[in-house]
Amino acid sequence: MGKILPIVLHPAPSLREISKPVPLADLANKEMKELIEDMKATMMALDGAGLAAPQIGKNIRLIVINNERSKEIITLVNPVITKKSWGRKVDQEGCLSVLDAKGDFIYGPVSRHKKVNCIYYDELGQKKKIEGDWLISRIIQHEVDHLDGILFIDKLEK
Ligand SMILES: [Zn+2]
Repeated sequence: MGKILPIVLHPAPSLREISKPVPLADLANKEMKELIEDMKATMMALDGAGLAAPQIGKNIRLIVINNERSKEIITLVNPVITKKSWGRKVDQEGCLSVLDAKGDFIYGPVSRHKKVNCIYYDELGQKKKIEGDWLISRIIQHEVDHLDGILFIDKLEK
C-alpha cells in the first residue's frame, strides 16, 4: 500500500502551472511506481473521486481516478481528451485542493461536457482509450484541467 501524501492547497502557485508530459520510460522507475501507488492511497484515504499529480506537488501529466461503477482505480498518464459531447450538464463539484477559511471543502456548480473520450497511457505504458459515462467524464474533465493549471472555481456557474 502506498503512503498518504500531503495535498497542495489553493492558492498555491504550483496548482496554476501547466504540467509536463511524463516520459513513458519513467514508468519503469521505482520512484514513479511508488508515486502512482501513493497517489492511489491518498485519493482513497481522502475519499476523492480523482487526484492529479499537481495536487501532491508534482507538475507532471498524471492522474488517478476512482471508477466507483467498475470498482477500479485507473491511472491515466499523459491523458488527452479527444472527443467532447455537445451536450453539457451542470453539477456540483468539489476538490481536495480547494478549502474555505475554516478548512471545509467548497462545492459549486460547474458545467461540463456530458461525455468525453480520452486517450492515455496506463501505468505499463500501454496506449488506452476510455469512452466515459457521465460520471467518469466529469472527473476526467476536472482532473485534466488540473494539468493545465485550471481549478473548478474558475468555471463556477453564476
Ligand atoms: Zn480537483
